[in-house]
Amino acid sequence: MGDNTSSLPETTTSPSSTEPAVPDKDFYNWSNFFSILTGSASPSAREAYFNARDTKFEERDCKTCEKSRDWLLENSPIIRFMKHNINLLGQDINSENVRCKRCTTKQSGGFDAEYGIMVCANQLRNQGHLEDTMAHEMVHAYDHLRFKLDPLDLRHAAYTSLNIVRRVQIRAGILHARSMEHHAAAAGVC
Ligand SMILES: [Zn+2]
Repeated sequence: MGDNTSSLPETTTSPSSTEPAVPDKDFYNWSNFFSILTGSASPSAREAYFNARDTKFEERDCKTCEKSRDWLLENSPIIRFMKHNINLLGQDINSENVRCKRCTTKQSGGFDAEYGIMVCANQLRNQGHLEDTMAHEMVHAYDHLRFKLDPLDLRHAAYTSLNIVRRVQIRAGILHARSMEHHAAAAGVC
């Protein structure tokens, strides 16, 4: 997942603002599906197949993602906890700045200080995966805001991240917090 906060994975524009994408029929077919299933497809054929599939289902994937995002913002204890902490720093995370997009990279999300949080709608396995991804990117958002308030207090920022990860672990259980653990490792404090 994206730890380089200065760059987001390449994404398409919103499906509503472009012509409907036409999947490449040369790749999105049963023959390729079975060769992937049996492991005989070449890496490039595999990639072309999945790209064609993601293009075909872009609108559906984004709609599903947006619906789950809105539900999680209202109901998920972890997401509400992170949202509350970000609110304390004077900003808000909501459906306007958590964007569901089709990504052309393998990551499930990204954070950008200008753009907000991006979720890769075509990479999500289920709502739990979206919850992990949003919580993960909200830690990046929190760190960014904390650092902006006090850029010299790097040590405190690192400990703050670790503290949040621990509190999320306590509240939500290890499973949801697992994807966030690398933040603590990256901060060099555990
Ligand atoms: Zn990350």
